[in-house]
Amino acid sequence: MITSLNHIGIAVRDIEVSKTLYKKIFGIETFHTETVEEQMVQIASFNIGGILIELTAPTSPDSPISKFLDKRGEGIHHIAFKSDNVQKELSRLSEEGIQLINSEPKDGAHEMLIAFLHPKSTGGVLMELCQPK
Ligand code: ZN
Repeated sequence: MITSLNHIGIAVRDIEVSKTLYKKIFGIETFHTETVEEQMVQIASFNIGGILIELTAPTSPDSPISKFLDKRGEGIHHIAFKSDNVQKELSRLSEEGIQLINSEPKDGAHEMLIAFLHPKSTGGVLMELCQPK
């Protein structure tokens, strides 16, 4: 079951430049930062009213975020919804004819299992499902 909105992923070219901008806009001082090897991204996130804003920069030209930035530039990359069981949700959505990018959950930031749904099947919105490990 999908239970809540968890985070909004924003594609950025330079994490430090973006942190400076977001500090200015939201007046926040501290970010949670981490590198997710599997996705080839560096993340800086902060919490606004229980929703995370995840600034995501590529660590390699092969990162999906690099490809997104080349094509679309900086901006909203994906919306992530929390599920109590990502694997079960993927099976259900697949049966519903929704195209999946990940048919199995992968390791994401914040000790989460994550999986992406293909924007072709979701009205142009890249959706992520996530579940705490
Ligand atoms: Zn995400």
